Amino acid sequence: MASNGNGTRERYEVREHDVLIVGAGGAGLRAAVSATQRGLSVGIVTKSLLGKAHTVMAEGGMAAALGNVDSDDSWRQHFIDTMRSGKLINNWRMAEIHAKESPDRVYELEQWGALFNRTPEGKISQRPFGGHTRRRLAHVGDRTGLELIRTMQEKALATDAKVYMETTVTKLLKNNGRVVGALAYTRESGKFIHFKAKAVVMATGGWGRIFKVTSNSWEGTGDGVVLSYDAGAELVDMEMMQFHPTGMVWPPGVRGLLVTEGVRGEGGLLRNSEGKRYMENYDAKKMELSTRDVVARANYTEVQEGRGSEHGGVYLDITHLGYEGIMKKLPTMYEQFKNLADIDISREPMEVFPTVHYTMGGVKVEPETCASNVPGLFAAGEVAGGLHGANRLGGNSLSDLLVFGRRAGEGASDYVEQSTHSSEIEEQELLTEIGRVLEPLEKRGDGGESPYLIQQELQAAMMEHANLMRNGDSLEQGLGKILNLKDRLPQVSVPGSRLFNPGWHTAQDIRYLVQISEIILRTALERKERRGAQWRLDYDGPDDDLGAINFIVTKDVQGEVGIERREIPPMPEHLAELIRDEVPDMAGGEKRGAESQF
Ligand SMILES: Cc1cc2nc3c(=O)[nH]c(=O)nc-3n(C[C@H](O)[C@H](O)[C@H](O)COP(=O)(O)OP(=O)(O)OC[C@H]3O[C@@H](n4cnc5c(N)ncnc54)[C@H](O)[C@@H]3O)c2cc1C
Repeated sequence: MASNGNGTRERYEVREHDVLIVGAGGAGLRAAVSATQRGLSVGIVTKSLLGKAHTVMAEGGMAAALGNVDSDDSWRQHFIDTMRSGKLINNWRMAEIHAKESPDRVYELEQWGALFNRTPEGKISQRPFGGHTRRRLAHVGDRTGLELIRTMQEKALATDAKVYMETTVTKLLKNNGRVVGALAYTRESGKFIHFKAKAVVMATGGWGRIFKVTSNSWEGTGDGVVLSYDAGAELVDMEMMQFHPTGMVWPPGVRGLLVTEGVRGEGGLLRNSEGKRYMENYDAKKMELSTRDVVARANYTEVQEGRGSEHGGVYLDITHLGYEGIMKKLPTMYEQFKNLADIDISREPMEVFPTVHYTMGGVKVEPETCASNVPGLFAAGEVAGGLHGANRLGGNSLSDLLVFGRRAGEGASDYVEQSTHSSEIEEQELLTEIGRVLEPLEKRGDGGESPYLIQQELQAAMMEHANLMRNGDSLEQGLGKILNLKDRLPQVSVPGSRLFNPGWHTAQDIRYLVQISEIILRTALERKERRGAQWRLDYDGPDDDLGAINFIVTKDVQGEVGIERREIPPMPEHLAELIRDEVPDMAGGEKRGAESQF
């Protein structure tokens, strides 16, 4: 118990671990398994329940060059496809590690109990997906994430890791420049916990909730990327947000809910209101299995140009599979449309439209260990940036979680074993943070700002100004709106107590949403070109001078967003030779695409 400086006495618990993992999705759980295998004490904190997180929602599958269906697949081909889709601004070393290690992680998951769909010969089956030139996605029907999380949870719970559910981290704590723990509160009771730790692994997922129409759940508010930024971490390519081509459009209450790319992987056809398979105008070679950025823009354009469906989407038709085929390969999709839209997708096409889905940017990490530039802070999964460059390939996230979750757990363990530093911090720092978190409750009754209204205004502004097609003037206007919301944050107040108070939780979330939105708008203004997910209408193609540039964001000494252009180091020859032939095709294709499409 201690004084918070306002004369009141504030209690907080203290918990101590060698490694603290923030997030219980696939990345966090995989990191936890690695660290416990090293005999370290591990705490896993999640703001929801075990078994939730975005990982459980993943449908289509996990990309790994097993070569079970297309025997000529290889890590090299997976590397090429990942780099090509990322428009070459990926961290090439991460792409190499990912392509090489994904097969081992899939087999490991199987050994730990995951039951994958099989080929007739009994091997793990693999389905095609957009932008993958081989059939590569290991899957469990359209419930792959559920199987991954079930397996990882059983594995993690069998260790000595201690799980803190419904506990939200609000700040990373530092001593002598090192991260040495975190402050958190329990969502049920509002009690504070000071976590002391020698290392922290950030695994908090993405930030789709800065947009109104998104496939992400309430958890996707990007806490970890802002907590890391506040602690001094570098962020990379934050302007790169993925719009998935196919979200539900109808009924309005479920707008944005994902329609898995597995539908197109299983032969689903996109048509406009004229019945035309319009992908031939956008990518005649790959058609529906082009990369997500291309298909999303195609769907958007068809609707903009008046060839949309009844409810403002396009048609996605999988009826050729028939009821039996759909129930075998896409049962969740069948149930989703039947229950939510009263549509039988074995008889009628679905209506779909792009939805905000994934964040390619994030905390910049060192590929071997997932260490950030701040000692003691590691990051893995969607919160980390680099692997996917300007556009992620479907299925590459689930394998990313396992490959780099494992490496983050190992990296943090190595760091802990080599360090002798203290995890103590000044108590006043804790009390100041507790005071900040409680502030919205203490202002109640004096007519302050509603966190819900700020959230709504922010989501509307991002939909209007930072959507999948952007231009400089509109981005500037969006930035003005977000900075206005930032000015209003100190006036946020919420009624009620700390107990079960969603308004209070939203008051915490909007701080992250506002900060991330500001960063995205500023970096989108800086990247003056069309590349992958960053599609500037005021530029007519990629800028060759930005072809090997990452935009790095840090909090500067005034506490403002600092942006630096950083050259991507040249690739070693064994990788460079793999993509040498790809470069002209990618750059030219992008330019040609830009001209023919828009
Ligand atoms: C509908 C849908 C379908 C998808 N399908 C696929 C697919 O088929 N294949 C594929 O590769 N990818 C897919 N993806 C993407 C993939 O699922 C995600 O990128 C991935 O699961 C993210 O995993 P993660 O471990 O990084 O984070 P998450 O799974 O999002 O977990 C984040 C964790 O952090 C916790 N957390 C967040 N903030 C805090 C805080 N302040 N304090 C404490 N805890 C916190 C959350 O509670 C949660 O436990 C899909 C995504 C969605 C939304």
